[in-house]
Amino acid sequence: MKIHQIRPQFSEFIPDNLEEGVLYISERYKTASHKCACGCGEEVVTPLSPVEWQLRKERGLVSLHPSIGNWNYACRSHYWIRRNAIQWAGGMPAKQIALVQAKDKADKTRYVGQINRLKDSVAQTTAANSTTSNKPSWVTKALDTLIQWLTGR
Ligand SMILES: [Zn+2]
Repeated sequence: MKIHQIRPQFSEFIPDNLEEGVLYISERYKTASHKCACGCGEEVVTPLSPVEWQLRKERGLVSLHPSIGNWNYACRSHYWIRRNAIQWAGGMPAKQIALVQAKDKADKTRYVGQINRLKDSVAQTTAANSTTSNKPSWVTKALDTLIQWLTGR
């Protein structure tokens, strides 16, 4: 079961059996350990150093930076520990989300381009028709309605 809170426990040594929902911190050995917040039972060791994890303490509340990304475990959990709270990351890493958003935008641009090309060709057709033939007005009206429907306006 996913947890949403974690309790810091400072001790010299990290116990062999970790309890869920507890973040064990050994300042002496500059390391912290906890059981994966997803409930899978895996033990997560976060060495505390400027290039690994940094621990911040504020009136009994602890935060770890950067986030905990358990990519090597089956659960692939990703979360932050901020002020004793577990903040779950979305299903996708941020970089992947950015890629998806960029693709969505590109699709939208392409779609609008198609609509505009369709509009242009219809405008040309109707302009040509108005001089050469007597196209019933309901045809152009129907085309307008179609375009409005396509563009959602
Ligand atoms: Zn897990």
